[in-house]
Amino acid sequence: MYLKVINKGFNFSQDGPGNRLVYHLQGCNMRCPWCSMPESFPQNGSLIVKGPANEDFCPFGHIKDGKPNFDECALCVCKPCTKILSSPLYLSYKDVSLDDLISEAVRSRPMFFAGGGVTFTGGEATLQFPALKEALKRLKAQGIHTALETNASVSKLPQLFDYVDWLIIDYKHYDGKKLEDVVGLGNELILKNLKAAAKNRKQLLVHIPLIKGFNASILDAHEFAKTFRSLNFPQLEIEFLPYHEYGKDKWSQCGLEYKMQDAFVSDQEVKEIIDVFKSYSLNIVNT
Ligand code: SF4
Ligand code: SF4
Repeated sequence: MYLKVINKGFNFSQDGPGNRLVYHLQGCNMRCPWCSMPESFPQNGSLIVKGPANEDFCPFGHIKDGKPNFDECALCVCKPCTKILSSPLYLSYKDVSLDDLISEAVRSRPMFFAGGGVTFTGGEATLQFPALKEALKRLKAQGIHTALETNASVSKLPQLFDYVDWLIIDYKHYDGKKLEDVVGLGNELILKNLKAAAKNRKQLLVHIPLIKGFNASILDAHEFAKTFRSLNFPQLEIEFLPYHEYGKDKWSQCGLEYKMQDAFVSDQEVKEIIDVFKSYSLNIVNT
């Protein structure tokens, strides 16, 4: 079995407790316009362009004036241009066998200090469900702490609960219509999975990206807070992730247009949102 891995690296405390080996997996079923990993979108991988390309690199004639035709490239399964050593064209992921991944995690055990372990995130990691489940099972069998960050939009998510020590659900909007309008997917399943997590788990961290004009008004804060109070789950922890533009340049490298504007939320606005959540007795964390 294989996982399509975009990148991996160690990260302290941001994607679960302690020092963690974090795998970003290919594929996402949402299209958040603020996404910092647009290369993750297609399940069969993105073409990433890091410089002018020689026309000869494409056997199908889809490079002109140094630029590939991204529409054609999306249909190109084998992407031979990415296999040429001097090519500035890259495939966004590598296939990693589960044997290699587990042995890498086992070798990395001394690095998992302060309660660390392995985290899977994305893209949307659960789109590679069978291999992800198997990887989590095998890591647990090795006694390695596991974490999963997910947008919770896949119906089988609860099947992973037993193999995930630390679950992070990204909850982007309480209003399904608004969510669908902006990211292309409503929140019916997400809410169902959120409730299932609150009912069946001892731990749950929710990440909320704060995007001005989308979900970051005081009214929004009250509506979010009401949703979380209704879960009746005292262990629930909530962390806000204010809008940033770290992945902006990657959009053009993938042939996509970055359309976000004026989405930053000030420190004062974040503080006011936190105050609203606290007035509902919700636990806010900052990892
Ligand atoms: S991805 Fe396929 S179609 Fe696009 S430039 Fe490479 S070889 Fe040509
Ligand atoms: S769910 Fe995450 S990975 Fe997918 S588009 Fe949104 S921000 Fe990007």
